[in-house]
Amino acid sequence: MTATSPVDADRRFVFHPFSNAYRHEREGATAMVVRGRGTRLEDADGRQYLDAMAGLWCVNVGYGREEIADALHRQALELSYFHGFSSMATAPPALLAEQIIARAGGSMTKVFYGNSGSDANDTQLKIVASYNNRRGRPEKKKVISRDRGYHGVTIASASLTGLPAMHAEFDLPLPQIRHVSAPYRLWNAEPGEDDRAFSARLADELDAMIRAEGPETVAAFIAEPVQGAGGVIVPPEGYFEAIQRVLREHDVLLIADEVISGFGRLGHWFGSHRFGLEPDLITIAKGVTSAYVPLSGTIVSERVWKVLADGPEGVFQHGYTYSAHPLGAAAALANLRLVEEEGLIERAERQGETLRALLRDAFADHPLVGEVRGAGLMAAVEFVAERDPAVRFDPALQVAPRIVRASLDRGIITRALPAADTISFSPPFVVTDDELADMVAGTRAALDQVAGELTRERA
Ligand SMILES: *Cc1c(COP(=O)(O)O)cnc(C)c1O
Repeated sequence: MTATSPVDADRRFVFHPFSNAYRHEREGATAMVVRGRGTRLEDADGRQYLDAMAGLWCVNVGYGREEIADALHRQALELSYFHGFSSMATAPPALLAEQIIARAGGSMTKVFYGNSGSDANDTQLKIVASYNNRRGRPEKKKVISRDRGYHGVTIASASLTGLPAMHAEFDLPLPQIRHVSAPYRLWNAEPGEDDRAFSARLADELDAMIRAEGPETVAAFIAEPVQGAGGVIVPPEGYFEAIQRVLREHDVLLIADEVISGFGRLGHWFGSHRFGLEPDLITIAKGVTSAYVPLSGTIVSERVWKVLADGPEGVFQHGYTYSAHPLGAAAALANLRLVEEEGLIERAERQGETLRALLRDAFADHPLVGEVRGAGLMAAVEFVAERDPAVRFDPALQVAPRIVRASLDRGIITRALPAADTISFSPPFVVTDDELADMVAGTRAALDQVAGELTRERA
């Protein structure tokens, strides 16, 4: 074996997720990240970056936290792994479940563990199917999601995701999945329509779909409290109130996908608490371990649990080798301790307010900015060719990806969201005021650069 450099080995041998395969094999990695502390990253060439996205909306307590590394070290020596099948158990997932249930509140009583947000949403669909089969309603299986929802990438969870590019390549969605409109004011609200009227219209759309499909065939509705990867879309006033009235009327379960919003990003333990959702099922992943190791979960309400556990016959025929992995749970316990002891949820809300104020000052009046939006420590800036009325750029111009690239050249890592000229911000909760100011200044300079290029290209 010849030892190649990591950069070379990556270019030659790694098939990258959500990357251009052709270009990666020729040009290699954009950056090879080797070290992280707090909100800062360093690459193999010694370049420094500010991570405005906390990885993929997930490194909530920041990089390099010794408390989590120590917890992992201790657990790996004591018991690196044992499974949870056939009622076998280990201690960390048990203690973690108790804490998750206490924080989720409402009528939540059980946690089923997985490894990723995607597999946790697959578990949701299996729970929903089992629930209705056990209730003697085998035809009640359809699940309604929303355009621009992001729920993962497995066959089932990619079907729930409401981004057409993620369907076309793989012959999705599955036949039992439907989508309704996103609560996306900028493009979906009528001129002059206020929040309440917009919310009522979206709830009417859902009601009409359920009636057209037949309520006896619709099992569940899935929603993120704030749509993340689909555009950082914050629900308008009254939205979830109106939606939940429809769901209750038709006996349709609500699945809250809190993979981003769970554990503090919206300034509350759960986004459901902030936006008044009363879910029957909750999906968690990213924030539960701050991404130190993979761990996800499906939180189940008593209403659903009672049906799944209604008699001694049968075994729930689902589980992953790494369901309830003790290392994941040990990382999560240490992570949640940091979130609590350092007051990071309050800090996420405070730093979110600061971030949104900085973004409004830097971007809101710019002729190419259609909207600055966000909630908690999630924010986005959407670019438009014309404002009032808003007109989209030709997607071929790749405006948001170019701004992200120009930001990266300035040492700021942000993300261009799919199917929208939107860049997003979701930094670690420990981000400082100075770091926020640097992120915003860097992305504003990147916008000016790209705006100049666009003017020259048009000339
Ligand atoms: C990231 C994400 C997922 C998928 O999680 P993976 O761990 O990437 O499988 C699901 N739902 C939401 C809301 C997410 O942001």
